[in-house]
Amino acid sequence: MGKRYRLREGIIIRRQAMTSGDVIVTMISPDGKWRGIARKGKIVGGNIGRLSLFHDVNLQYYHKENEDLFLITQVTLNGALPNLSDPDIYPFGHFLCELCDKLTVGVHLGEKIYDYLGSGLRGITQHPEPSKVGILFAWKLLSQAGLAPRLSRCVKCGKSYSDHATSEVFSLDVVAGGLQCASCARVERDSSGSVRLNNSTIEELIAIHTQTVRQGLELTLDDLTKHWQILKHYTTYHVAELQSVKAVQALISSQAEAAKKAQAKTAQTKTAQTKTRESN
Ligand SMILES: [Zn+2]
Repeated sequence: MGKRYRLREGIIIRRQAMTSGDVIVTMISPDGKWRGIARKGKIVGGNIGRLSLFHDVNLQYYHKENEDLFLITQVTLNGALPNLSDPDIYPFGHFLCELCDKLTVGVHLGEKIYDYLGSGLRGITQHPEPSKVGILFAWKLLSQAGLAPRLSRCVKCGKSYSDHATSEVFSLDVVAGGLQCASCARVERDSSGSVRLNNSTIEELIAIHTQTVRQGLELTLDDLTKHWQILKHYTTYHVAELQSVKAVQALISSQAEAAKKAQAKTAQTKTAQTKTRESN
């Protein structure tokens, strides 16, 4: 029987280069996750370099008997997002890809996952706040996987968040997957599974989960460090420990540090200018 070639479109979320020169790629396609191998020197149409992380590609492949992986024979590029290799952006893209990879272990979560990943990666390269885009799409992907946190009321006693006194501190009970009121948090001595949140962060989280992506992109997130801390705890417990989150957190803290220094410098310059004016 002759080879039966098939075609497939998808976004590459993982690329493993083997010592043999072969490349194994994992893709998210509209109909789920897919893995294939490109043998060194065997790609007839196109360059093996097109099989890079974040690339949106069209593949031709076939299934060879007694082989676990599909054999890729041709690659054409639908789109590359070159900015994604920028060190100020890369960690966010890597995080979304790794999250997709872990969320789709053994399950197909629908075409929406592919759409969110594509929009998320494009958003990260185009939006002035890639960190915010990363947060927004990470939650969209988690929700699509049925892992959205419950944010309208305390998961323990049912007290509504909208009824709470502004002075009361709610927290996110990561293990229970939702908000926890102050009195329930007091009863529970072990607070290792919860993250204390201020009202603005809770309201931002609620907005992320109730608004459209477009509206979400207009949101102001006050404390990006906090948002990533929440995502880290939440994904570690509900999905898997994601390697990429460390790079995201390092980038966020170095950006916060740089912003603080710039602010201090502006203040210093202003003071110096005032002094010069006074001495004149
Ligand atoms: Zn409660």
